Amino acid sequence: MNLIPYIDIHTHPFRNETDTVIVQNIFPGEGFAAFTGRNFYSVGLHPWHIKSHEKDNELLVMVEDALEFDHVIFIGECGLDKKAETNFEEQKRVFEAQAFMAEEFRKPLIIHCVKAFNEVLELHKKLHPEMPWIMHGYNGNIQITKQLEKQGVLFSFGQNLFKSDAKVIESFQYLNSDKIFFETDEVDDEVEKMYIKGAQLKNIPVELLKKTIWDNFKRIENISTNLF
Ligand SMILES: [Zn+2]
Repeated sequence: MNLIPYIDIHTHPFRNETDTVIVQNIFPGEGFAAFTGRNFYSVGLHPWHIKSHEKDNELLVMVEDALEFDHVIFIGECGLDKKAETNFEEQKRVFEAQAFMAEEFRKPLIIHCVKAFNEVLELHKKLHPEMPWIMHGYNGNIQITKQLEKQGVLFSFGQNLFKSDAKVIESFQYLNSDKIFFETDEVDDEVEKMYIKGAQLKNIPVELLKKTIWDNFKRIENISTNLF
């Protein structure tokens, strides 16, 4: 069991730790390295980066081009952000386009969602996607968590587990371990810390959590590739 790696489902800095498999987020047009067995990628058009209809379409084509590579395993981060200054209607259009792309290319979606959980939920109900949707940096309350869970949505937890935000902890403790992932996002730190905190909150051994999360990853990753 010791050989099971940690999985950092969403990181911006490149991480190179022998015991961790990473999914590094890159934006359309950014380069990425050849696969070494530990570095996967996600590529997507972030709601902060949308511009105009025309420019966004160009960026979406770049996302599509990146999906040709086997080790680009997720589309995202993409999603909806009500705090962003970009046009919300255009955010919805760009998110939906990537949700369709996820189905076409058979890649899970990694979702950035700020104050728009209901919109994401509605879109999921409308599209009935086969591909998993993973809410990253998750901080939703228990009511929305239950609704998203019912739809089959998955959840990734990061720094929020360390904030004394009772609603995140409640959602985390409510969710079965087969629905969750961990991430470091923008923080240049080891994902191991999230696992330790998560195991503490769930009152289970870290090794057990590690195995479950690894199985979760293999389950969704096998959908698009077969690298393990
Ligand atoms: Zn991020």
